Amino acid sequence: MNDVWLTVHRATHQIGGNCIELTTADGHRIILDVGRPLDAPRDARGLLPTSLSIDAPSDGVLISHPHQDHYGILEDIPPEWPVHSGEPTAWLIRLSSAILGKSLPHIFTSWKSGVSFELGPFKVTPIFTDHSAFDAHMLLIDVHGKRILYSGDFRTHGRKSALPRRLMNAPPGNLDVLLMEGTNLGSDKSCISESELESEFVRLFRVTCGRVFVAWSAQNVDRTVTLYRACLKTGRTLVVDLYTAEVMETLADFGDLPRPGWRNLKVVITKALARMYRRTGRAAFVDQMAQHGVSAAKLAQAPSKWVAMVRPSLIRDYVIKDVVPNSDDAWCWSMWRGYLDNEDGASVQAWFADGGSRAAHLHTSGHASPSELRAFAVAMNPKHLVPIHGAAWDENADGFPPITRLCDGQPMACHG
Ligand SMILES: [Zn+2]
Ligand SMILES: [Zn+2]
Repeated sequence: MNDVWLTVHRATHQIGGNCIELTTADGHRIILDVGRPLDAPRDARGLLPTSLSIDAPSDGVLISHPHQDHYGILEDIPPEWPVHSGEPTAWLIRLSSAILGKSLPHIFTSWKSGVSFELGPFKVTPIFTDHSAFDAHMLLIDVHGKRILYSGDFRTHGRKSALPRRLMNAPPGNLDVLLMEGTNLGSDKSCISESELESEFVRLFRVTCGRVFVAWSAQNVDRTVTLYRACLKTGRTLVVDLYTAEVMETLADFGDLPRPGWRNLKVVITKALARMYRRTGRAAFVDQMAQHGVSAAKLAQAPSKWVAMVRPSLIRDYVIKDVVPNSDDAWCWSMWRGYLDNEDGASVQAWFADGGSRAAHLHTSGHASPSELRAFAVAMNPKHLVPIHGAAWDENADGFPPITRLCDGQPMACHG
């Protein structure tokens, strides 16, 4: 009766939307991530994988990190299922829900990296790792003599690269299964380090005589730090929106991270975002940020001083205040290039093209390069490598430990 089954309900053949279940023959089960598919329309509901039963209880849902493609269907998960994550992850998930005017009824329990805990027969050890999301973890699961490592999303070139490298030097050993992401397989996306990226931003800030506008994800805290450090080195001031300011405020206590009130950092309080904050009952935060605020109109003065965040919702407010790009300005897309093709990306691109501003694409991937994925998998030395979170595993299977290829919803016996 010590049988253990692994089912990847979603993401065996796609990037994101992860949902994995481990089950024992005596009726215990845990779920690793409850992700939303990246291509799901914004308001779509009913995204639970069809093979995941929510009728029986679960010993727990474990959220590896606070990206939507790993937790975004939590609202469809029974509220009585206990949820476990890192503490910053819980904060960030609640913050994102609040922005959307929603509240999650689930009870979150926080784990500490490296400290094991038990859920029924499952012993779970969270292992802090490097990724573009703050607070990303790999999860080591021991159950009935079987050992499974779930990589979550990770990279080896960010500001926390020492973490996965340490794990590669001292792997857990005796792994039956490694469930590993493969986002960057089949691609040649830039995987330079964040500090190399910082140098590139410094160069861009120095050669630009006007403003530098940058589009990046507020939750990519490594990138916020990179931009802030480049501003300090060049005497510019980083201007972030209210949401980014709130992410920084929320996370500042979890590390030595820049926050509103620090030098060379200002918050632009725009009408649309402030209205949304007030509508969702969070007017106090807007008032609290006023002391660190800068009006959008200021961006039209002393242009060489600013590195300003840009996104479609900010553009509307910028235009009202006569902040319009010109040929002295530069703009930078600091996210995956593919997002430039969607509606939001195209509108940002068009705004700067109309103004004749110089374009730069300074970015590094949030995921490990293909060669690093191979090196990591080889170092873990599992009996079975189960591919997940990738769209090009089948064409790039060389150089990995023995691969067991699953389809979504197909159970795999980890015993025997
Ligand atoms: Zn992901
Ligand atoms: Zn992620």
